[in-house]
Amino acid sequence: MTCQSLVLTRKTNVLLVRSFTILVLICIVMKPEVCFSSVLSSLKALHLQGYITFENNEFASRDFGNQIHSHPLAVVHPKSVTDISEIVTHVWQMGPASELTVAARGHGHSLQGQAQTRGGVIINMESLQQDQEMQVYYNGVKFPYVDVSAGELWINILHETLRYGLAPKSWTDYLHLTVGGTLSNAGISGQAFRHGPQISNVHQLEVVTGFIGFIAGKGEVLICSQEQNADLFHAVLGGLGQFGIITKARISLERAPKMVNYKYHKSLKDKSVVL
Ligand SMILES: Cc1cc2nc3c(=O)[nH]c(=O)nc-3n(C[C@H](O)[C@H](O)[C@H](O)COP(=O)(O)OP(=O)(O)OC[C@H]3O[C@@H](n4cnc5c(N)ncnc54)[C@H](O)[C@@H]3O)c2cc1C
Repeated sequence: MTCQSLVLTRKTNVLLVRSFTILVLICIVMKPEVCFSSVLSSLKALHLQGYITFENNEFASRDFGNQIHSHPLAVVHPKSVTDISEIVTHVWQMGPASELTVAARGHGHSLQGQAQTRGGVIINMESLQQDQEMQVYYNGVKFPYVDVSAGELWINILHETLRYGLAPKSWTDYLHLTVGGTLSNAGISGQAFRHGPQISNVHQLEVVTGFIGFIAGKGEVLICSQEQNADLFHAVLGGLGQFGIITKARISLERAPKMVNYKYHKSLKDKSVVL
């Protein structure tokens, strides 16, 4: 090989290595873009009974605490449980590479961004409530109960059950909170000393399963209770939305008292609460 052709080969090799390096760098820079646009278009292609919004979602990056502001990629306004199941299954099928997370949002009265997800999908549970009627059962049953959507506010449940002379056994003191939001925490009030928190006064739940740990269900719609799918039931109650999304709840009722005397003794000697 002549000296001239040797120099030429070396130059070609250097050029090849440079081109390859540039290609790799372009891929690294472009990949998130490609991934982002494929996530976006796959969400847009979903056929839901409700709808998805990709803009004007500022409300979902705020909560009562007003300290954390995580902007989501999309907000789903489900019209049915099937919508929620479809979105959770879809996110699961996209796999971890999509880095997509899902969070249920009730009335947004969390203080630390618990119902938010940065760049993920928010499920606006209150839009589900608009399509599901409450059903009160009191005739021919051992104990009265009401079946409600998880997006329902406790104040509306009180108004509806009072029409039958009934009321939920356990409350929160503030009632403009959703069923799913408080059952994902505990739900405490002045009645908790007598009946326990709200999570101890639920007969049954309908849940769209998540994909964490031992309860990996990938978007299935399951009924759970003390007797049926008990692991799921106990994980979801007080589970901060990490084990599945509560879509319906069967809440225990009692006869509503005509009058309530509420006294709170604050003295150190006497801390009792009288109802
Ligand atoms: C003014 C005020 C008064 C309050 N009073 C009380 C009180 O008296 N008693 C009490 O116990 N608490 C009280 N809280 C706390 C409140 O119960 C919790 O912050 C509750 O989570 C808020 O309900 P939300 O519907 O706004 O839920 P969000 O804040 O929207 O959500 C709370 C959590 O639940 C998850 N979640 C929401 N819906 C679902 C669902 N359907 N399935 C699964 N996970 C879900 C969210 O992802 C998030 O992690 C109060 C809070 C405020 C701001």
